[in-house]
Amino acid sequence: MIDVEKIRADFPILSRTVYDKPLVYFDNSATTQKPRCVVESLVNEYYSVNANVHRGVHFLSQQATELHEAARETVRAFINARSTNEIVFTRGTTESINLLAYSFGEAFMQEGDEVILSVMEHHSNIVPWQILAARKGISIKVIPMNDNGELLMDEYKKLFSEKTKLVSVTHVSNVLGTVNPVKEITAIAHEHNVPVLIDGAQSVPHMTVDMQDLDAEFFAFSGHKVYGPTGVGVLYGKEEWLNKLPPYQGGGEMIQSVSFEKTVFEQAPLKFEAGTPDYIGTTGLAKAIDYVTAIGMDNIAAYEHELTEYATRRLKDVDGLRIFGEAEHKGSVISFLVGNIHHLDMGTLLDRLGIAVRTGHHCAQPLMIRLGIEGTVRASFSFYNTKEEIDALVDGIKKVSKMF
Ligand code: PMP
Repeated sequence: MIDVEKIRADFPILSRTVYDKPLVYFDNSATTQKPRCVVESLVNEYYSVNANVHRGVHFLSQQATELHEAARETVRAFINARSTNEIVFTRGTTESINLLAYSFGEAFMQEGDEVILSVMEHHSNIVPWQILAARKGISIKVIPMNDNGELLMDEYKKLFSEKTKLVSVTHVSNVLGTVNPVKEITAIAHEHNVPVLIDGAQSVPHMTVDMQDLDAEFFAFSGHKVYGPTGVGVLYGKEEWLNKLPPYQGGGEMIQSVSFEKTVFEQAPLKFEAGTPDYIGTTGLAKAIDYVTAIGMDNIAAYEHELTEYATRRLKDVDGLRIFGEAEHKGSVISFLVGNIHHLDMGTLLDRLGIAVRTGHHCAQPLMIRLGIEGTVRASFSFYNTKEEIDALVDGIKKVSKMF
């Protein structure tokens, strides 16, 4: 079970005020706050272990390398990958997807080939494929959804052709909260011998993810959304696939030998990690993973589900409030609009009450087009949020509504 008061004490920022009001932080889909142990890990490593990893014979370099590689093992265990060779450290989900789009596109896609995305993708799972489309002449097929925000699986099945080379979909929508049936999506792609990339930016912080159970070839997520530091993320890839892909960037760390005549690359994951990695960040990410693991991902999921149900019930009582995304399987994200009040006005006025929500298109403009709106107000919850904070949000929305 979640002891929310004890947990909140681990997050110093949660006890600050904004505009003399207690902070209510409901922008967790954009980034999460950091527990003390993560921040202390960053400071302590800079103070007492800092040295560049992998190439040093000296003590500090070896200790920093050990911490960095131990973090890879922590990530492996967290997502139940088979091997640490399947864990590539990147800057975040965006870089992970760009890496794959470049590298997979280079090796396996030609003019006329197709990639399948869904209508609810974040721009970071659209634009890299468009860049590839411009470079290689591939085309993009889109899985549609129903009005509840659920993908239409029958339509998905119809999108496959002999030209389909990859399926890339989000696990959880950052706007609608929909938890997509990614295991089924993967199994269907495999019937066509097509590999799959899952954007796990919004799932990893909220639920247990298991690479061996999911069976997708690739999976991307960001450290900063799972209570870790900014600037570090992960691309998981099945080892046999990673070893088939060409590098994304060249430089130090990713080679076995270099001469002007010939360079021999490292195997995965180092092949994809050119240059000095964010080794302080990876240790911080490992601390964050240890932190959420100690609470228990299943406890986190259950508590956040309870918060989301409570918030949904209370918000539905507000006059003129429309919720976007009512999928049967939903994560802790609620997007809404109230009457004709512009999302930006609602967000700005809630902010004055100390309530941090996100407004706008949430980097999902094609989804906004599908919904026929410009943007929403989005409240997204973490295990450190409380029902009292949701009450404050509901009261705030009512106050703002009265002003219009
Ligand atoms: N995909 C989804 C579903 C997201 O919500 C986000 C972040 N909002 C991203 C990708 C991009 O993550 P990052 O900015 O950490 O690379």
